[in-house]
Amino acid sequence: MEIVLATRNRRKVEEVIRIMVDLPILILTLDDFPACPETEEDGATFEENAVKKAITGAKCAGKPSLADDSGLEVYALKGAPGVFSSRYAGPEANDRKNIEKLLNEMRFLEGKHRKARFVCCIALAFPDGKVHTFYGYTEGLVGTEPRGGSGFGYDPIFYPEGRDKTFAEMTAEEKDAISHRGRALREVRDFLISRMEKKI
Ligand code: IMP
Repeated sequence: MEIVLATRNRRKVEEVIRIMVDLPILILTLDDFPACPETEEDGATFEENAVKKAITGAKCAGKPSLADDSGLEVYALKGAPGVFSSRYAGPEANDRKNIEKLLNEMRFLEGKHRKARFVCCIALAFPDGKVHTFYGYTEGLVGTEPRGGSGFGYDPIFYPEGRDKTFAEMTAEEKDAISHRGRALREVRDFLISRMEKKI
């Protein structure tokens, strides 16, 4: 079986390969289909964005296509930054500016009011138009200052529930085991295994 990852992001590709490595699946990416367009993430929900990217990938490549969308939701901020996580600080946003803005918005929040969760939605679209979606969540707390040098995005300020270090202070393997994306990807993995077993 071949699956096209509807991304050109190397980090995401490597994460999928780590989790699917033992399955009889050939992982392709949009780099293998240079004519396929980049999809604009203009949906109101993670699911809308993931589904749109996966459907575009499946149509363009003519093969099953996998796409994800993810972000951080702070409960006290009614789910912000949410689908705007990557551009929270505006058009010139980067990880540092996004973190600064979020810490500023949360400056008066203490204790349990700093609760947040990472959300990941993965869509798997087939060329015949069928789409399946999978979710993964990681609950936690937003710290008051950045800590740790690994990872990306909001990792330096996110303390997964029950841990005394941020995602940015963990190894890739430690983070994969409890991350929203790792959890959603393992759901996809289970789905693909049961689908392949049914066809035997
Ligand atoms: P996307 O799914 O790559 O579009 O992620 C959107 C944004 O959400 C990223 O740019 C990050 O700001 C944030 N984000 C998603 N997943 C993570 C994560 O695992 N750690 C830190 N930030 C994340």
